[in-house]
Amino acid sequence: MDALQLAEKLKQGGSVWHFHFLDKDCKFNPKRGKFALIIEDKTGNKKTEFFFDASPLETSQKLAQLLYGTGFLGAKPQRTGNKDFENLLALASKCKKEGKHWCYHHLVPSCAFNSHKGMCVILLEADGQILEAIYNSNSMGDLTELEKLFYSSK
Ligand SMILES: [Zn+2]
Ligand SMILES: [Zn+2]
Repeated sequence: MDALQLAEKLKQGGSVWHFHFLDKDCKFNPKRGKFALIIEDKTGNKKTEFFFDASPLETSQKLAQLLYGTGFLGAKPQRTGNKDFENLLALASKCKKEGKHWCYHHLVPSCAFNSHKGMCVILLEADGQILEAIYNSNSMGDLTELEKLFYSSK
């Protein structure tokens, strides 16, 4: 079963799931040098890892659509006003413009990678820095803004 099939199965079964797209040198990547997609099934508390030689960007985008709905990249983000996020977004935009590598992670409260348990975190790795924006309420609007930037063509 590939990542997309697993996600479809979890969704159909009504599971609480989410996923991570990890770049080759991402700090969360257990196999540096390969791209990874990690699917967490919080219903069964299972983590499934998939590794790739070539970037699975398209699969990642499909997973995001499965998780958030197909319209989410077209939606107008309702920004939260989180100051840390504004800095984070500015750095991501700068890196995108300059063609520098960056990756981001949305860590839900129950996520295995989340060191701020109970909170939602948007984490950016860019330009040798790690920036975090922490939320005790819905971070979805800010996340959508970042996703749009990430998946938009260069
Ligand atoms: Zn990363
Ligand atoms: Zn997670």
